[in-house]
Amino acid sequence: MEMVSKKYVYFFGEGKKEMKNLLGGKGANLSEMTNIGLPVPYGFTITTEVCNLFYELGKKYPKGMDDQIDENLKKLEEKMGMVFGDEENPLLVSVRSGAAISMPGMMDTVLNLGLNDKTIKALIEKTKNERFAWDSYRRFVQMFGDVVMGVEHDSFEEALQARKDKKKVKYDTELDAEDLKGLVEDYKKIIKKAKGKSFPQDPREQLKMSIDAVFGSWNNKRAISYRNLHDIPHNIGTAVNVQVMVFGNMGKSSGTGVAFTRDPATGKDEFYGEYLMNAQGEDVVAGIRTPKHISKLEKEMPDIYKQLIDIRRKLEDHYRDMQDVEFTIQEGKLYMLQTRTGKRTASAALRIAVDMVDKKYIDKKTAVTRVEPQMLDQLLHKQLDIKAKHKSELLAKGLPASPGAALGRVVFDADSAVEEAKNGNVILVRTETSPEDIQGMAAAQGILTARGGMTSHAAVVARGMGKCCVAGAEDIKVFESKKYFKVNGKQIKKYDWITLDGSTGEIFVGKIPVVDPVLGEDFKKFMSWVDDYRKLGVRTNADTPNDSKVAISFGAEGIGLCRTEHMFFEADRIKAVRKMIVAGNREEREKALAKLLPMQKKDFIEIFKVMNDLPVTIRLLDPPLHEFLPNEDEDIKEIAGELGLKFDELKATINALHEINPMLGHRGCRLSITYPEILEMQVRAIFEATVDLIRKKYKVKPEVMIPLVGTVREVKVLKEQIIKIADSIMKKENLKFDYKVGTMIEIPRACVTADEIAKEAEFFSFGTNDLTQMTFGFSRDDSGKFLPDYLEKGILDKDPFATLDKDGVGQLIKMAVEKGRKVRKNLKIGICGEHGGDPSSVEFCHMVGMDYVSCSPYRIPIARLAAAHAALKEKEKKNS
Ligand code: PEP
Ligand code: MG
Repeated sequence: MEMVSKKYVYFFGEGKKEMKNLLGGKGANLSEMTNIGLPVPYGFTITTEVCNLFYELGKKYPKGMDDQIDENLKKLEEKMGMVFGDEENPLLVSVRSGAAISMPGMMDTVLNLGLNDKTIKALIEKTKNERFAWDSYRRFVQMFGDVVMGVEHDSFEEALQARKDKKKVKYDTELDAEDLKGLVEDYKKIIKKAKGKSFPQDPREQLKMSIDAVFGSWNNKRAISYRNLHDIPHNIGTAVNVQVMVFGNMGKSSGTGVAFTRDPATGKDEFYGEYLMNAQGEDVVAGIRTPKHISKLEKEMPDIYKQLIDIRRKLEDHYRDMQDVEFTIQEGKLYMLQTRTGKRTASAALRIAVDMVDKKYIDKKTAVTRVEPQMLDQLLHKQLDIKAKHKSELLAKGLPASPGAALGRVVFDADSAVEEAKNGNVILVRTETSPEDIQGMAAAQGILTARGGMTSHAAVVARGMGKCCVAGAEDIKVFESKKYFKVNGKQIKKYDWITLDGSTGEIFVGKIPVVDPVLGEDFKKFMSWVDDYRKLGVRTNADTPNDSKVAISFGAEGIGLCRTEHMFFEADRIKAVRKMIVAGNREEREKALAKLLPMQKKDFIEIFKVMNDLPVTIRLLDPPLHEFLPNEDEDIKEIAGELGLKFDELKATINALHEINPMLGHRGCRLSITYPEILEMQVRAIFEATVDLIRKKYKVKPEVMIPLVGTVREVKVLKEQIIKIADSIMKKENLKFDYKVGTMIEIPRACVTADEIAKEAEFFSFGTNDLTQMTFGFSRDDSGKFLPDYLEKGILDKDPFATLDKDGVGQLIKMAVEKGRKVRKNLKIGICGEHGGDPSSVEFCHMVGMDYVSCSPYRIPIARLAAAHAALKEKEKKNS
């Protein structure tokens, strides 16, 4: 009995856009476009499942797949009235990769497949264009040799150059049919020499080898590194699309282009794209020739332009999102080769989301889910200071490929970018970028290329990374190996400073100051929708009235962490702080603290005023005292003088304060236990500020937070002291005020005994910086020495100081939340470690039922959106 094998191959039209996981993004959308009647060349998709099986079976294919390919090839031949390998009417195809999540340029592509020494004749006959036919053949042999057979790309380039040199010409286009024919022979010899095998003449074998190569490219180095960089799972596999070739290089009435249904930089509802006449597929994206703006096509080929405009509307009506398309014109006929959701800048994402809601294309919920939280970072990016910019020397201008501003020292290759970025900002300058440059682009502050358009590799990748990029600055000549570039008679060397304006394409010599961005109406509207969906509160970590103001403008709903030590460093008080530290006895210490009290009180008054009616969590002094004292003898001498001490005296005090392991030393609540007078001064300042402002009709909600607690008894002792101070102030002032006393949870023991601690603490705030440090036993200060190795070797997936370690630290948090709430139902719980502004950590905080997250002001919008996403995701899970 014959088993019916599983369906591994789908003819275009058999799938639909919802089948991305199985057919890859490209395959699913080619089917969808076919179904809605767009002009798509026929073809079929081999599923992503086959890719996974290919690896599971040790680079072999599941049974039945070959037969299915043959059936679909037959169908292609019938539809086209052409035959694969036929000497009169040969069918030519392209073979392309396409995963569910797009990985531009990372995997292999083969074009013009089916050409051989016999079918070439038919192509010449049919097109009556000998040069075109030989050009197609030599491109195919080159691509096949390079990506399928693994021959060094440069050896083909050298052969091409040799032909040009022999003829004394500069451009490929100056080679005629005879030259190209010779080149095909050159290429075949190169392949034979390098691989000991001939270029295969049998089209079916060519196809098989190409399919192998595309599946094989799923695990090439650059694809793996791209997936790591973009958090794309390694087990989703790629599909392979086999499609009838259409030619954009058949002469004057042929061409190829890429377009966006809206402007991907601004989101403006305007057709946006680029094209090249007489060019083949990859030429536009490769950035080798700089393409023309799509609007020029209206004059050049009005019918085609009109068709494209219709398709643009049709696609947006259908997909309800901005699309990024590839098209080819073959002798005056338009074909669509791809559509996918277009990558966009953050401001474009907001513009499109808001506009599509206004036009009732999508609802608000969809709009909110369409913008990735981390993307908002771009909006908050700095811009060049306009005045300084006008005074600066403009070096050249390229295309405004990805907005923002960047200044840095020039480097010319990806490795240097990675290396030098450790020492400060770098700008990666290349003639053009390729997927090999990915790591360098990620490390650089900005990217500058001399060639390529708005859809070149550099532009697309930089935009995706939210990184400033100026592309196609044609006046620049880059000498990568000699490490300099030349422009308008000027020479810029490695390590020279330049500044880029990615929003205008301008390039400047030297450093230009940058300014903070202004957020527009779209942002406000969008963020108001975001707030409708989120359940988590979002507070800020702020230590100054100014930070607090910025945070409020970004939507902070309170302060989750005010680190008081930063106030101690202010010029007018550091002396008093030091006096307090070096004091020989309590009396002297109290004298110094009495000087500090009015200054601290003033700090709190200013912050309370800004945060009127919102809760303000103030943490008692946390760092070890030695941090306020100098290290170098020079400084010790100077400060000893200021404090009226002898050098040796001060040096002895500093030595006495020295700790082997300060992070685990005399810090946090331990300081208040040893020096209750420090706590007394701070708490007095907080409550006296509260009283003053209540009298002035402000609403003040102070929350006193005890840091680094490991046992409930620490909380108990300090809380009693705090209550006593509050009571005495209330009595003296004859005024009642509300306040809370709570604790940070940042020691594993505090998590384990959270039920005990909750008996005393009215709120918990997870200090996940310290909690991560102490759970892993990784020093916050020294982990930079080994964490990169952990990440590279895959021992850790993520830096746990940036993204919460859900399996370890997260489990402690979960336990503490549950234990705490068991004892105190209304226990307020938040997070104030750096993780409070990291989207996936925010999602975790939502899932464990925290009340709020707290993060630095500039990350507040990201946290708000991440909180909304988390709530929507949870709801969706419940419904399904
Ligand atoms: C923490 O440990 O997470 C925290 C917020 O406190 P700090 O970073 O000041 O130690
Ligand atoms: Mg801490």
